[in-house]
Amino acid sequence: METAEGPYGVLFSENGPQRKLSPKDHWPDVPKITWNPQFSEGTLDLRLLFRAVWPEEPDLAGLGKRFGLDFQEGDPWGKAEALGRLFLLALEETRSWSFEGRAALSQVLPKNFLLPPKPRIHYPSVKTLGEAFFRLRERGFQPRKLQEEYAALVANALEKGETLLLEAGPGTGKTFGYLIPILLALKKGGRAVVATRTRTLQDQLWKRDLPKLEEILGIYPKRALLKGRENYVCLQRLYELELKLVPKEILVPLSVFAARGGDLDELGFAEEWIIEEIRDRPWRCRGTRCRVWEKCPSRKAREAARKAELVITNHALLGADLAMENALLGPYDFLVVDEAHALPAALQEAMGIEITPRELSLILSELRSMEEELGNKAEEARVLHRAFWEEVRRHLKTGRIRLKSEDLKALRLASEPLLSSLSALAEILQQKEENELASAICAYVQNLKSVLFPPSEDWVPWADEEVALGLTPLALAEKLSEDFWPNIRAAVLTSATLSVNKKPDFLLQRLGLVLDTPFFSWPSPFSYENVRIAILSYLPEPDDPQYPQALAETVRRALSRAPVKAMVLFTSKRALEQVHAHLTGLPHLAQGWDGERDQLLRRFRQMPPPAVLLGLESFWEGVDLPGKELELLVVARLPFPHPGDPVLEAEAARIKAQGKSDFQELFLPMAVLKLRQGLGRLVRTPEDRGVILIADRRLSSRSYKKVFLSSFPLAPRFLESPEELDVVLSEVFR
Ligand code: SF4
Repeated sequence: METAEGPYGVLFSENGPQRKLSPKDHWPDVPKITWNPQFSEGTLDLRLLFRAVWPEEPDLAGLGKRFGLDFQEGDPWGKAEALGRLFLLALEETRSWSFEGRAALSQVLPKNFLLPPKPRIHYPSVKTLGEAFFRLRERGFQPRKLQEEYAALVANALEKGETLLLEAGPGTGKTFGYLIPILLALKKGGRAVVATRTRTLQDQLWKRDLPKLEEILGIYPKRALLKGRENYVCLQRLYELELKLVPKEILVPLSVFAARGGDLDELGFAEEWIIEEIRDRPWRCRGTRCRVWEKCPSRKAREAARKAELVITNHALLGADLAMENALLGPYDFLVVDEAHALPAALQEAMGIEITPRELSLILSELRSMEEELGNKAEEARVLHRAFWEEVRRHLKTGRIRLKSEDLKALRLASEPLLSSLSALAEILQQKEENELASAICAYVQNLKSVLFPPSEDWVPWADEEVALGLTPLALAEKLSEDFWPNIRAAVLTSATLSVNKKPDFLLQRLGLVLDTPFFSWPSPFSYENVRIAILSYLPEPDDPQYPQALAETVRRALSRAPVKAMVLFTSKRALEQVHAHLTGLPHLAQGWDGERDQLLRRFRQMPPPAVLLGLESFWEGVDLPGKELELLVVARLPFPHPGDPVLEAEAARIKAQGKSDFQELFLPMAVLKLRQGLGRLVRTPEDRGVILIADRRLSSRSYKKVFLSSFPLAPRFLESPEELDVVLSEVFR
């Protein structure tokens, strides 16, 4: 048992030496402690230490919450004890750090205070799936029957070199279900890649599931985590930050953070401008000429990924690797794609091009210090760049539009002066050995030309009202079936939602896989006893002008009967705005008005019930609000994709040209998959209860209703009046 006592107290550590602590300054406002000279000399700034050890936590309150410690204002003794406990926890945490991380920590913690590294207990490794699950039971885990079935299928596919689709609802235990067979397969040789859509899942696999499994199974492959380059800190820029008079309270923990990998997703204590300042941007990188090239976090991460036996990455990088012919990840034998329902869109995006004015502006702003050497070339490029995007703006309407041949013609003409100015600038930079900036400009020129001169009808050039130009490939399936799947020995695609009407054909077709690819599906093992799904048939249709007010009244009524936390999912900003306007007086947060996803989720979690969260696209997937954090889920309208989207329009035209129905083959399956994702937000743990309301009466009348209803986890009720809604609510929230 470890404990610590008050500001003038003694800090105890059961296993380590006792260290006497006393306050140097006015405790508790300045969390600094001086330790007894018997142990060491000097002042230890706890704020610096805690930032270095837990860079993701911006303040003490967050740390207190995480470790269940109380930081009550007006209770200096309690606060001191909590700080003491955190201090011990910090020391313990650093025991599993790498050599580089521990060495960097000497800036905030004298070496003689560091506890020895944690010895790694190497258990004998298991050899079979049966042994693996036996070991899990021995260690107190309760593998689920479904999980064992799931793992057996994955192991078989890896062994036989097959491709497999596994649909498994929440609670199946699929991450262990695929990680165990992957670890066993790697023992026999080969390389594996596990790709997820969200960073949350990527981090969960990397920090929680894999270390736990490695230790239990006694299998320790050489593994690496790879994120996009711009997720890492640029060490060179971090050194330059010193010149900008950033205080040491930020700089010192930042340098420890960089030595530990510099993953910016884990940085919570630095302001946004600092994060942008130190973000690794390829065009400002000096490559091998950088004086800290050897220590560069993103370079090290890429190298580690190429050498690793197991790489944890995301869908976007999987696509980037495909576009770069394996230069990023190197060849691999086994692939597991989690959240695989989102893979086609991610690959399509990665294989395409998107250009924004900001990109070139940032590159050109890097030339400010060389203005004189470049004559007026950089300024000329800036002026032409602005003029070009003015012309693009003239072609923009609302949303995203396909660039027709007359648009392309006009934009080609408008781009000529800019393209020749940029080519001349790149040449000068090349002569001055500013190779990275020169290549960044050449890449921009190349991308712009590709958008303005699409290689074939299979590429859709588009412009977006958010001011972007792009090019998206249509023939993704063909490319994947020719260049992707044949290079992988075995692949497992998994998600809670892979099928439409119980069949995975839609996804298989989009991914260029054969329709008889083996597919298995398990519903969530959670009991839905305390869950109800209801279709609000009494509401007007979503396009009716009365709809927003009627929906807002329904939400208000539901929360007056059951004061819980609710989320309403929208597909359009305009609909969200209208409902938002009708919810005055009810505590609620609206995406776009009160913040964006992560910030809104943080605030929503802290709100007491009743409270409502109104969310768009990014709330339909990957949002985890278990238990009382979410008990009422409302879907504002069926999530059919926007038919005016230029890429979808082109895909629909292709389908129609084959004599098929674009609605049945494209729009309907997309909507069903998305709705299934949305419905999955409510039940996250076996104990969860709640009500799902679908506020789209088309589900009770249109011919396609059967396809939607067949994918629901339980039979819905069709409500003809608000009073019937009261009954449903009272069944769950007694
Ligand atoms: S190699 Fe490039 S990204 Fe890495 S530290 Fe140096 S300048 Fe920054």
